[in-house]
Amino acid sequence: MSSRLNFQLEAQASGSRARAATFHTLHNEVQTPLFMPVGTQATVKAQATQSLEDAGSQILLANTYHLLLRPGPEVFRSVGGIHEFMSWKKSVLTDSGGFQIFSLPHSRSMTEEGAQFQSYLDGRTILLSPELSIETQRAIGSDIMMALDQCIPSTADEAAARAALGITHRWALRSLAARGDSPQALFGIVQGALFPELRRESAESLCAMPFDGMAIGGLAVGESRSEREDTCEFTTSLLPHDKPRYLMGVGTPLDILEAVHRGVDMFDCIIPNQVAQRGGAFTSRGYLQFRRSVYKFSQEPLDPACPCPTCARYSRAYLHHLTKTGETLGWQLLGQHNIYFYHQLMREIRASVLEDRFLPLYHAKREVLHAEDMDHPPQHPVKTRKRRITKLGAYEVHVAPEGFGSIRHIASGEIMHSRTPPIEEARRLYIEQSRLAERLRDADNPEPLVIWDVGLGAAANAMAAIHAYEKAACSGPVRPMRLVSFENDLDSLKLARINNNFFPYLRHAAPDAILKQGSWQSPVHAGLSWTLLKGDFLEKMTQATDLPDVIFYDMFSSNSDNDHWTLEAFRCLFTVCGGRAAELFTYTCSTAIRAALLVAGFHIAKGRSIGEKRETTIALTPAARLLPSTSCHEVFGADWREKWQRSGAKFPAGVTEEQQPDFARAILEHPQFQRL
Ligand SMILES: [Zn+2]
Repeated sequence: MSSRLNFQLEAQASGSRARAATFHTLHNEVQTPLFMPVGTQATVKAQATQSLEDAGSQILLANTYHLLLRPGPEVFRSVGGIHEFMSWKKSVLTDSGGFQIFSLPHSRSMTEEGAQFQSYLDGRTILLSPELSIETQRAIGSDIMMALDQCIPSTADEAAARAALGITHRWALRSLAARGDSPQALFGIVQGALFPELRRESAESLCAMPFDGMAIGGLAVGESRSEREDTCEFTTSLLPHDKPRYLMGVGTPLDILEAVHRGVDMFDCIIPNQVAQRGGAFTSRGYLQFRRSVYKFSQEPLDPACPCPTCARYSRAYLHHLTKTGETLGWQLLGQHNIYFYHQLMREIRASVLEDRFLPLYHAKREVLHAEDMDHPPQHPVKTRKRRITKLGAYEVHVAPEGFGSIRHIASGEIMHSRTPPIEEARRLYIEQSRLAERLRDADNPEPLVIWDVGLGAAANAMAAIHAYEKAACSGPVRPMRLVSFENDLDSLKLARINNNFFPYLRHAAPDAILKQGSWQSPVHAGLSWTLLKGDFLEKMTQATDLPDVIFYDMFSSNSDNDHWTLEAFRCLFTVCGGRAAELFTYTCSTAIRAALLVAGFHIAKGRSIGEKRETTIALTPAARLLPSTSCHEVFGADWREKWQRSGAKFPAGVTEEQQPDFARAILEHPQFQRL
């Protein structure tokens, strides 16, 4: 056939879909399974190409979107391609640029022709069509190019996923045509979110096209681990045996092991580099965080079992020091080790498949790859002989590979904050977007600023607000602030409090007071207080005496907590707000929930991208829209209304078929769209 890679399947593991293969790019022989370090801007951050060669990197990934903007394809044409440009003799895989564009918070639009966006460098408008994507990748001169696809969150509804599929398949054909007789290989990308039927359709359509390899797209963008693993396994079962399979953007060493077991050959991820920047290292003795002072005097190498240049030369004490002082060398050395660790893992996996002992290796590695430092386990500040409680009521503690904790709802598997530490997410989503610091500086206003924290959870949002107040009060006079939290089940806060080594933001007197007596008054700042209204929010909100200026709406999602995301709930909230200027911030970007907010009377705007969410949502009462300070919000225009009309999931739960025409009319006639 037309494969440019001469793919040879060498071995298939018993009792597993894991496999080992070789293929040939324009630059080298590639042995699978393999990991590709991410070199976004034609550089793997903080790593010289020599060190990547030494670590055994076979293919680097570069980002077409970034390289298209800078240095621009003309530079690659003039120097003869990316290999020459960055002095890299092995292979390069370029993505299509689509994922970055779909991740842009602003200024993009999608048509059949392509994805249009504004350059963040000079503001010019660029239409990234399948043709321009391939033309750019040809100029870059990568060994493997990716077809432009339409990326959607893995949690998208079926209609949205189906529409994206149609476009992806038409773009796949255009990409192949644009590739022409170029010797560069080209991969197609199977989409279909979490719908097996759509995945099957996508795989069938794309496998009929002369691609050199197949990628599994649309995962690692919001689904749970088990959803990802199931979809991955199902999708690989649909793919041909004689082409490489590439799972895009995954993952931790454990994620990769699991995906190899499910039949994937190729991976890329920024994690080894990103955790290095934060002082983290994967080792044969578990995950080490070099900020911890247990390494202060340690003369041991980073990983005694690792022959990489970092481990051969530097002590843990030195790496701890570099991390604590924020020295770039710390990032570089830990990055070098982490990339080596990933490649070494892949080499071990490959050897085990070739010798048909993958399954025992898989079981052994599973036990250690998620472990924390086994020799110096993180200490728990609660000195007690009791076993640590990690489950309480409906919840359990989930610890991310990067070392931060979050709370998982056991029944639904839903994790409150899976990608970013909860406190960081709270800051970005609620504190910064509500411009809290700025509002508190309005010290002449004697009226307290009232924040409703709906869904106290493990108190990350509430503590972020309290920290923001304490910080503002240190630097000058501030306006009083009253924080009102709503929660019916305190188990998640209790659980996080017990495990507060994973939730360091809870080391404060306030959460204890909330758990003990349901209220807290700052002993230092007379203007700062916090109350808990325990019970069902829909009932409690009508009893609150302090009405909100700002609402953090952070309930569990509609899958596990339907009542709080209905039209009824938002109508009730809108009524309680009365004519007040109130702004609501929430993590969801669901079309149906946005529609419910509109029909309830709010106006809606686009919230910033957080973690795996490309967008979140801001809702404003009509009075809030008149405030000059809200003009920074990107209020949706008529194009959103059109998108809603096309959506397959227009109506929130609880709107009956009879009510749908009235609901639709309310959207179409909403004042938000009239004024535009
Ligand atoms: Zn090492």
